[in-house]
Amino acid sequence: LTFLGIESSCDDTAAAIVRLTGEVPEILASVVAGQFELHAPYGGVVPEIAARAHAEKLDLCVEEALAVSGLGLADLDGVAVTAGPGLIGGVMSGVMCAKGIAAGTGLPLVGVNHLAGHALTPRLTDGLDYPYLLLLVSGGHCQFLIVGGPEAFTRIGGTIDDAPGEAFDKTAKILGLPQPGGPAVEAEARQGDAKRFHFPRPLLDRPGCDMSFSGLKTALVRARDAAMAEAGGLLRQDRADLCAGFQSAVADVLAEKARRAMRLYMERNPARPAIAVAGGVAANTAIRARLQGVAAEFGAEFAAPPLKLCTDNAAMIAFAGMQRFRRGERDGMDLTARPRWPLDDHAPAMLGSGK
Ligand code: ATP
Ligand code: FE
Repeated sequence: LTFLGIESSCDDTAAAIVRLTGEVPEILASVVAGQFELHAPYGGVVPEIAARAHAEKLDLCVEEALAVSGLGLADLDGVAVTAGPGLIGGVMSGVMCAKGIAAGTGLPLVGVNHLAGHALTPRLTDGLDYPYLLLLVSGGHCQFLIVGGPEAFTRIGGTIDDAPGEAFDKTAKILGLPQPGGPAVEAEARQGDAKRFHFPRPLLDRPGCDMSFSGLKTALVRARDAAMAEAGGLLRQDRADLCAGFQSAVADVLAEKARRAMRLYMERNPARPAIAVAGGVAANTAIRARLQGVAAEFGAEFAAPPLKLCTDNAAMIAFAGMQRFRRGERDGMDLTARPRWPLDDHAPAMLGSGK
């Protein structure tokens, strides 16, 4: 089974070709075109600019993915596309592109939940068996999910305000670092002393797996202002120490909440300890290491996708699409783009178009 995947829900335009032989996936091509330069002057993703850039680049990405794989449209068995959640204009560009290809070739069309793409990535990259506990931690989301199967997601906790990726991006902005903030803050943090500035560990005093990250921003601004007042400007070392302090607070919260989520997970799945992390923030080396430590405490199998497949890509969309397709699910030309689309037990049928 060979699928084209298309992704355009945020600021990456992506196309990929993935082949599934039995249970074994192979990524034949994964093309990702970022839009950082386009949004850089505005200090954040501008939805209209993103939608337009997607519309311009999608065809090129698809052509390139086909070229890299050495396949033609005739060699494919279907087209999978992110149908949400995300910036609506971008998602619409992708859905329209996929519909065009499906209509032109007669290939089946499968709409995919972007979050399901992230959530199934540990299976795509590491062949992790179900069930597993997943920390999905990205630019717009942060949640613990028990992944029982390709369409069985049970949410057992998550952020009550910002997502960590968003917090990394804001931190970069506040400290004058480039976007996307995650990699920039991580690089600074490597040179910094995490203990110098005090950052809170929100909600650790409360039971459960819910998290909060918006307070870190306030702490950051306060610490930055104090450091600047003292030095008459933001010193390089101050910036590095602030990044290190911030990152370590995020890592501490994620690790402790993962421990609690793991206990909950183990009550339900005592025979199969497994924990995986996915989403853009999973690309953070320090955070990966902390979660690997939690896995070790439980003697659990641990999976973290390669960095390139943590952030947005279309390989995960092709893979998730093939899982739906195999169960006989597909969409028609009435597939719609959805800005919001939760991923949990209460919405299993919503993995696709709402059938
Ligand atoms: P969502 O998947 O929730 O819709 P998204 O698609 O925008 O959001 P992803 O592409 O999965 O998010 O992740 C992007 C986010 O990951 C950005 O906020 C970015 O700063 C963050 N990120 C990327 N690399 C790192 C890193 N090394 N450390 C921390 N954060 C990172
Ligand atoms: Fe994403």
